[in-house]
Amino acid sequence: MSLPKTNLLYGKTIGIIGGGQLGRMMATTARHMGYQIIVLDPTPNAPAGQIADQQIIADYDDFEAIKQLADEADVVTYEFENVDLETARYLEEKNLLPQGTKALKITQDRQLEKERIKQLELPHAPFKLITDKTDFNQAVETIGFPAVVKTCRGGYDGKGQVILHEQADLARAKKMLTDNQPLIYEKFIAFDCEISVIFTRSQTGAITYFPVAENNHRDHILHTTIAPARVPEHVEKEAKRATEKLAQELEVVGTFAIEFFVRDDSIYINELAPRPHNSGHFTIEACNVSQFEQHIRAICNLPLMPIHFHGGAVMINLLGDNLDYFLSKIDRLEIAHVHMYGKDEIREKRKVGHLTFVDHDRDKLLAELEKRQFI
Ligand code: AMP
Repeated sequence: MSLPKTNLLYGKTIGIIGGGQLGRMMATTARHMGYQIIVLDPTPNAPAGQIADQQIIADYDDFEAIKQLADEADVVTYEFENVDLETARYLEEKNLLPQGTKALKITQDRQLEKERIKQLELPHAPFKLITDKTDFNQAVETIGFPAVVKTCRGGYDGKGQVILHEQADLARAKKMLTDNQPLIYEKFIAFDCEISVIFTRSQTGAITYFPVAENNHRDHILHTTIAPARVPEHVEKEAKRATEKLAQELEVVGTFAIEFFVRDDSIYINELAPRPHNSGHFTIEACNVSQFEQHIRAICNLPLMPIHFHGGAVMINLLGDNLDYFLSKIDRLEIAHVHMYGKDEIREKRKVGHLTFVDHDRDKLLAELEKRQFI
């Protein structure tokens, strides 16, 4: 007997471009749901490849490999936004990419992202596009210091960014400018906290929101996520309103994250991520449905599940740098859900796993974690 015919993709094959930890967590969930998984990643034994039925070992823009993925998968998704646009268009034309290319194109390029946010009159830090060294003078005049200069493409975890405090710092920023790489000069926001809104949008436009999370970075890398965020209700509402506008405008399908700065109860959109997000890992244990399961449901055209939250959660990233510290506390880890990503190499400042702690009471949980010196 075969599965009944339906437009829902029960039991089919999901292709994932990118074999890192996000792909791994998508694949783990999808396997529970009965899907077959093929991962495309150039590194043998990639974290997601270890969970998949098959890993195609090839570069992301290797067209033969993409054709193989398209032939063997019933639906394709990605774990990062830097998927080659031509590749994405090819998959979209073959009706294999329900997420489409609109959100992908915009989130690949800070210039397009910032301009769209501005055009939609959504709150953001003042910025100026820098294509030429002389543009810096005008940026200094209108935006001033302190400021952050960012590359338009390819930056992550603080890479491709410099903070400018004074005129003398401009030289470093000028070195980042190359012919085909414009920059964004952006006002530095002395924020009280950073939050993220993670949501999932179905192919029919329904949206579900995970609890708004509060994020603490160290050296530009996410260190801790606390949920729910310690911000007033009206701030959450504002953030969700901006999120909904962007979600409709970008025709988002799947799980998507928007990061905000919060200062004096005002929000500023910082960045968009067209995929599940590090700050949503707590949803695996702290919600009835995780950001990964909801993503799989959206791309496979299953209805989204209403979200229930257990009340409080803290997620701590394990990096090459702090792994020993947390493992040395292993005798006190009975309240931690441990996730390790199966990385072959443990390097400084690279994420190798995470810990999640859940309680119905966030503040009680935070006090307990402080007592145990986890945070
Ligand atoms: P991004 O890659 O844009 O998400 O930046 C990484 C981190 O750098 C953010 O999470 C902030 O902690 C910091 N950052 C980036 N832009 C700004 C800004 N305009 N003002 C203050 N901090 C910033």
